[in-house]
Amino acid sequence: MEEIQAWEDLSNIPPDPPVMREICNKCKRPAIVCWCSALPPQRLNPRSNIILLQHPAEEKRCLRTAPMLQLGLDEKKFYIFKGKRFPQPRHENLENLLKHPNTILLYPSKTAIDIKELENEFTSYNLVLIDGTWPQAKAIYTASPILHKIKQVKLITTSTSDYIIRTQPTEGCLSTLETAAEALSQLECDPIYRKQLIEPLHMLCKFQLDNGAVTHQSKEFLLKTKTYPKLIGKRLSKLLKTTNEYIEH
Ligand SMILES: [Zn+2]
Repeated sequence: MEEIQAWEDLSNIPPDPPVMREICNKCKRPAIVCWCSALPPQRLNPRSNIILLQHPAEEKRCLRTAPMLQLGLDEKKFYIFKGKRFPQPRHENLENLLKHPNTILLYPSKTAIDIKELENEFTSYNLVLIDGTWPQAKAIYTASPILHKIKQVKLITTSTSDYIIRTQPTEGCLSTLETAAEALSQLECDPIYRKQLIEPLHMLCKFQLDNGAVTHQSKEFLLKTKTYPKLIGKRLSKLLKTTNEYIEH
């Protein structure tokens, strides 16, 4: 009897292998780790535009936040351009955007002013952000002279990143999503961006933690406690120490 049952079970196995993983067609992630349900109920529609200049390596990271930003905002309010320097001939309309008088660049240089101190010269801004690690962002900035002419702003925030999975270069250093959400809330005087845009990130972090991902402490913390140099080697450790000086809290 058991043997017959076993043969029946075998004959019920479909001849084709099962579909490996169902992919969400919105966020392009496997359906079981899709964060789309945490997106704002309706795409947010700020007065200002977000212009993301993305380093090509950023797109390949497994935990990246640009798609969360893209899917959380109205399509007409979000632009993304990829490259190691900007603008290039393939970056349609970018040069125009970058030359616009209401364009501002979020970049923590010595001349950057606190975004809160922008006098309301314009009702809306084109807010340019560089998406990449700090050394990548610096390289993009250096290779793109047009960016040097744009009014530079910085975010003064004391909150530590929610993006706890990906090791942050320094305490208070935010992911691109968190940076854009915070900047929009300050520019538009509306907390909705800060609250709603980062929800997919919370969901992703929770999922990763529930599934055994390690909560990384920031590189700054690890450097202070001297556990990091062993892991990364002397050269990178030295580099991180110098780049920390550029990031203002
Ligand atoms: Zn999805």
